[in-house]
Amino acid sequence: MSAPLRLMAVHAHPDDESSKGAATMARYVREGVEVLVCTLTGGERGSVLNPKMDRPEIVANIGEVRRAEMARAREILGVEQRFLGFIDSGLPENEEEELPEGCFALHKLEDAAAPLVAAVREFRPHVIITYDDDGGYPHPDHIMTNKVSVEAFEAAGDPDRYPDAGDPWQPLKLYYQMGFTKERFEALHEAMTERGLGSPYSDWIARWEDRPAKWPVTTRVPCGDYFQIRDEALLAHATQVDPDGFWFVCPRELQQEIWPTEDYHLARSLVDTETPEDDLFAGIHADEVEPACH
Ligand SMILES: [Zn+2]
Repeated sequence: MSAPLRLMAVHAHPDDESSKGAATMARYVREGVEVLVCTLTGGERGSVLNPKMDRPEIVANIGEVRRAEMARAREILGVEQRFLGFIDSGLPENEEEELPEGCFALHKLEDAAAPLVAAVREFRPHVIITYDDDGGYPHPDHIMTNKVSVEAFEAAGDPDRYPDAGDPWQPLKLYYQMGFTKERFEALHEAMTERGLGSPYSDWIARWEDRPAKWPVTTRVPCGDYFQIRDEALLAHATQVDPDGFWFVCPRELQQEIWPTEDYHLARSLVDTETPEDDLFAGIHADEVEPACH
């Protein structure tokens, strides 16, 4: 019997795993892949974005509430998950605003990456998913998440780097999550408009700069059958997600019909693979894969 394939998804805050690549993870878990979500911060500085949850007792215990939400989402997705222990940097309101002392984004890269390097060496993923170098959206924790993921991908296999973080392990592929493409939102917008549903995306699309994508999509993973699980996991983050809000305006059936994939950019590969791909493990042969040591 061959060893299971392993996928690691690196995220900044609890809820990011449910809004970025959740259906992909749900699918791979159900196909026998081991999936570990590493959440770098506890989301302590996240605002309550769901008006129904904006209550004093929730706001006062936001760190604890978000851990409980994460536990529920983890169960729904069927993944393993661990927090890597950093403190949320918060989203500054303007460029002048200084980040709070001790927050994740202010750490030196080596310190910020060390727990992830240790997690990579322990879990031994073949594939890692993270954000692109703009963070997918300009939150300082998301940008830092990209940096530590690239650092871990490059350093985890090198015995001379991070010598106290376990035995070396070299992941084979690194992907950037590409859910927020103009192409996808235009397709959903058009489909909603055609069906007379009214689309909330028009202003947003209009503001989008018309330039070639910095990180072109190389890989589309079919996972429409798992959109319901994705949505349930996202709703488990009740303080962060308004069930009547942005995430749920486009009917799920329409998304399954018009855009039934989650999309990625292959940022690094140590195996031979031809793009476009439809599988994050393309080029990786399970029978050649070394078993995990845990
Ligand atoms: Zn986030």
